[in-house]
Formats: sequence, C-alpha cells, structure tokens
Amino acid sequence: MNSWFTVESIDDATFVISEYQHWEQPHAYLVLGEKKAALIDTGLGVGDLSKIVHSLTKLPILVITTHVHWDHIGSHGKFKEIAVHEIEKPFLEDWFPIPKEMVMMGLCGQPCEFPEGFDPDQYQVFHGPITQVLHDGDGINLGGRMLRVIHTPGHSPGHICLYEASKRYIYTGDLIYQGKLDAFYFSTSPQDFAASASRIAALPVTKILPGHNSLNIKPSLIQEIDRAFQELAAKKQLVHGSGIHSFQDFQIHL
Ligand SMILES: [Zn+2]
Ligand SMILES: [Zn+2]
Repeated sequence: MNSWFTVESIDDATFVISEYQHWEQPHAYLVLGEKKAALIDTGLGVGDLSKIVHSLTKLPILVITTHVHWDHIGSHGKFKEIAVHEIEKPFLEDWFPIPKEMVMMGLCGQPCEFPEGFDPDQYQVFHGPITQVLHDGDGINLGGRMLRVIHTPGHSPGHICLYEASKRYIYTGDLIYQGKLDAFYFSTSPQDFAASASRIAALPVTKILPGHNSLNIKPSLIQEIDRAFQELAAKKQLVHGSGIHSFQDFQIHL
C-alpha cells in the first residue's frame, strides 16, 4: 500500500487521510453516508489518493472543496463529481490565481521523501469542470448524514466549513487549525476571517476536523481563535501587514 498516506478512523463511517510526511500535514476527510460519500479536499496530489479512497468505500464520491488552494485540490482530477463555493468556481474552471513556480516552492521547498513514482516536473495544478456549485446554507445529503455548507471567507473568498449537526462535527479547512493561520496575502481578508471565526464559534461542536496539522485539538480552539481576532481588532491590528501574532496554540499572520 502507499505509505505516503496515513488513514485513521474518526468513527466507523468517517476517515481522515493525512499526508504527514509533507511539512504542511494536510488532511482529507472521507465521510460515508448510506447513498454516497463526501471527500472533503484532496490534498497535495502527490500519491494515489483515489486508490486509498476506493479501498475504503465503493459508494459514489462527491469531492467537496473547502477552498481552491493547491494543497486542498491536488487529487481533484482523479474524481468526477466536484463541488465548490460559487465564488471560487472560476478559479478551478478558468484560471488558477498563483503561478506554478509558487506552488512548486510550497510543494518541494522543504525536504521530504516523496512516494516512488512521483515526478515534480510532471506536477499539474488541477483545472477542470465543476459539477456542483455551493452556497451558504446548502445541505449536502449523503443518505443518513447531512453536511451543511457555511461560507467562511477570510483565508480565501469562497472558503467554506462543513457542519454536521447530528454529530456536532465541523470540518474547518484553513479557517481553524493549530499552527499559523494565514490572512496576510492579497486574496485574504483579516476582517472576513474574524467574522467567519465568530460565526462558527456560536455552533455546538464536539470535534474540529481541520485542514492541517494536529487532529488532537479541543473544540474550544474555535472560541480561542475568535477571541484572538477580537483582541487584534480592539488593538487596531486587524489589518494586512500587522505581522505574525502569537497566541497559546496558534499564530495569526496578517
Ligand atoms: Zn489555504
Ligand atoms: Zn491549506
């Protein structure tokens, strides 16, 4: 089997597929319903993610994109059904906003052992048709499981979180994780990021399923990040260029 990926169970119908050998430690989530499965993000596009996914389920797969950064859409091309928020649809279908050289710096900039057969020179950022456009409040019914789309801009304009009310799970993409939260480059908005953190801080959550880094995080991280943004706003530091602000379990780069 391909050791590039680590597969762990969150519960008997929810899996996390992680790429821990890469410095970004991205996570994709496989959420099994009775009729179909959601694959939330597809990682770096380095190993054969589809092989792992098809070994875990025979259900039809809907890929749901938290946002269109290259490290979340790497294996989109291996799947037929792809959903993305309406604002970011053009980035997948028409043009990708950052040059391939920048992607390669992120992908190969720090040493790691890529899996056998991976050739960085052949690497392509995904570009292709979308089959489902998502809006705030949409419900994605997998059969017995419902994922609710929450538009959470800030890290990127069409970033979404997915909330599963029956289990009180929230899949947070790059809005909430332990480590350095990024809202410093041109397509980010510190104010939107703060508003999005505030919005999801109001939801009852027992498990945060983040886009990167440790999975062992407490649900109160959302409230801590919300408070941190409010502190920065009070100090008039909620603006691009104010630097990297450090808190207990995370930093905020503005
Ligand atoms: Zn991102
Ligand atoms: Zn990311």
